Amino acid sequence: MRAFDYHQAVDSGQAVEQAVRRDGAKYLGGGTNLVDLMRETVERPEMLIDVTALSRDIDETDAGGLMIGAGVTNAAVAGDARVRLRYPLLSRAILTGASAQIRNMATVGGNLLQRTRCAYFYDVAASCNKREPGAGCDAREGFNRYHAILGASSSCVATHPSDMCVALAALDARVHLLGPEGERELAFNDLHREPGERPELETELRPEELITAVELPPLPMAVRSEYRKVRDRASYAFALVSVASMVELDSNTEDETIADVRLALGGVATKPWRAWQAEAVLRGQPATEETLAAAADAELAVAEPLSGNAFKIELARRVMIAELSQRIVDARKGGES
Ligand SMILES: Cc1cc2nc3c(=O)[nH]c(=O)nc-3n(C[C@H](O)[C@H](O)[C@H](O)COP(=O)(O)OP(=O)(O)OC[C@H]3O[C@@H](n4cnc5c(N)ncnc54)[C@H](O)[C@@H]3O)c2cc1C
Repeated sequence: MRAFDYHQAVDSGQAVEQAVRRDGAKYLGGGTNLVDLMRETVERPEMLIDVTALSRDIDETDAGGLMIGAGVTNAAVAGDARVRLRYPLLSRAILTGASAQIRNMATVGGNLLQRTRCAYFYDVAASCNKREPGAGCDAREGFNRYHAILGASSSCVATHPSDMCVALAALDARVHLLGPEGERELAFNDLHREPGERPELETELRPEELITAVELPPLPMAVRSEYRKVRDRASYAFALVSVASMVELDSNTEDETIADVRLALGGVATKPWRAWQAEAVLRGQPATEETLAAAADAELAVAEPLSGNAFKIELARRVMIAELSQRIVDARKGGES
């Protein structure tokens, strides 16, 4: 690991000022991803600006949602009683990830910006366009069982690794930012980019922008939301396929129809994947198995498998249908109570 300077920020404005002043500065959350990458010399910051003492609260918003500070640990979000009651999929998504020790260190801001687990990205002897633009992509013809079937390009097939982000994509969260030009907000689903020809550009953040908070809007149907993660081991493994889902039924119609739905996928795409196509097929349609299958097929119609991951298409299809079926059962029970 190369030598670097360290600065502990006392407030968000000062953190941004420091980042502007120093070329090659990076914000430091829990360090559970950044420090690993520094050890491998994939990341080589000149200075770390520690932001773990900032934005450590979870507050109610006037709109009836929650504002989660970027410095809140993953463990604290997962354990928060309001999150567990009103947004259970977020709590569950976090608890399927990493280990208790890592969740105690990792922050919300760092989780959003954690980098891919593609082995070729980590291996500085391999070719990787994300690490070194123009170098090529060894994953395309290499060991690509864990790679993306959605949102990929000829330059990059790396998946986004975060579980928390899949839940936030489904919840229509908003990301609050502070940069040299002041504050702004981004829809969570606009934060991460598909790689296209520039896989090194992973987000829509502007230079030196700091994530200060993630806002969860009020969403009544989220009380019956769930997150399911399918992986090679029962714990301590990244998703092969994961599904975040919630469903609202309209039982007043003659055929019980799907009034509203949120669906997002992890483990299969280059960014946390909101299943917009599937949702469009589901809304207003009868809550039948045929509808669910048509929705899953619509989402996966553009899937492009690599040599080692074609199984993800059928796996994603089955998990989507199974999860939506269960959410419909849950919604019926919710309607009765
Ligand atoms: C063994 C292992 C297993 C794991 N398994 C899983 C898993 O199954 N599922 C999963 O989702 N994750 C998993 N993770 C990843 C883990 O969730 C991330 O490492 C963690 O969330 C990163 O948070 P952090 O605060 O430590 O970020 P850091 O490592 O401190 O930072 C990550 C990035 O975010 C930037 N950053 C941090 N805070 C801010 C901010 N406020 N504003 C702007 N930029 C910021 C940093 O500059 C850096 O680029 C695993 C990690 C390990 C080591």
